[in-house]
Amino acid sequence: MIIRCKKCLIPHTRPEQVINKDGICNACISHENKKKIDWNQREQKFLKILDQFKSKNNWDCIIPSSGGKDSHCQALKLRDLGMKPLLVTATTCHLSKNGRQNLDNLKKLGFDTIEVSPNIEVRKILNKLCLELVGDIAWPEHVSIFTVPVQIALKFNIPLIVWGENPQFEYGGPVRDNANIMDRKWLEEFGGLLGLRKEDLLNHYKFNQRDLLPYTYPEDSELKKAKVQGVFLGYYFNWNNLENFKIAKKNGFTPFHNPIEGGYYNFEKIDNLQHGIHDYFKFLKYGFGRATDQLSFMIRNNLIDRKKAYDIVKEKEGKFPKSYLEISTKDILSRLGISNEKFVKICDQFTNKKIFACNNNNQLIKDSDGNLILKEK
Ligand SMILES: [Zn+2]
Repeated sequence: MIIRCKKCLIPHTRPEQVINKDGICNACISHENKKKIDWNQREQKFLKILDQFKSKNNWDCIIPSSGGKDSHCQALKLRDLGMKPLLVTATTCHLSKNGRQNLDNLKKLGFDTIEVSPNIEVRKILNKLCLELVGDIAWPEHVSIFTVPVQIALKFNIPLIVWGENPQFEYGGPVRDNANIMDRKWLEEFGGLLGLRKEDLLNHYKFNQRDLLPYTYPEDSELKKAKVQGVFLGYYFNWNNLENFKIAKKNGFTPFHNPIEGGYYNFEKIDNLQHGIHDYFKFLKYGFGRATDQLSFMIRNNLIDRKKAYDIVKEKEGKFPKSYLEISTKDILSRLGISNEKFVKICDQFTNKKIFACNNNNQLIKDSDGNLILKEK
């Protein structure tokens, strides 16, 4: 059974989530704490950091870029502050047309860009393997968006990497003392990589070591020598997803026509057509998906009331992702060599039976579309 925060809709099952004795989650508390921050002082600190790197190399900093609304804002902001950034993209697992259009839009806006596109045959094997091993089809993408920009920083001798939001800061979770710094330690603790490491993959498939290069974080000794450092822009400026979307849209960013599957917004995670599968597994493991995150953000910002938001979550979230099956519009699973039966089996394997209704034989109860019944207080 899941218990949700009394203010927003975040459930207690969210990893690293704490709901206090008053029934309030740490994302809501973090939101209130943000109001007390002296943003002007933080901006001044950030400008001092930039001064250390301005005009020292061919590019002043790296911005890891998915082409999304946040990447647009990061790039525009840094340019406004007098920096010449190099935008580095690690291509997603299954790039959408909109995703491509938005990456091209950043080029049109006059930024220098590099796109690293790992071998798609290796990628397919990784997608399948990671879905089977840890219930995360998007593992290769989540890893490469962190590893590739750091590799490029070393390669081109650009020591400053400016990341976007710090999710711990925005959505709750244990915030470190140095909440501004993004490094290997952060990645290991909070990167959401589910305990799977490159070395584990080698135990399950005979990869050539070099095939996994895009998924390899550089050695600490190399990073230290080159003085590479990563900072979160969201620590220094008051990060706001909806404001970022407005700025990006004004500058040519194109959202989807409809919200993504299981979500409420039409402008987040539109760069990878596999996102619906990733989000469904989050629902199976923890009983919530993207709509909960997005609508909880809106509740905290007084943009929707909790009751209405909750109704939308019930309507949108946790639907069995039929559209990904064989002979369907997206046909992503058969491309990876996963049959319908196999997919259902993997789903069941990762379903948390403590939070979904089961029959007397401890078998999951599903409707004719394969949807589960979430148990809520
Ligand atoms: Zn909350």
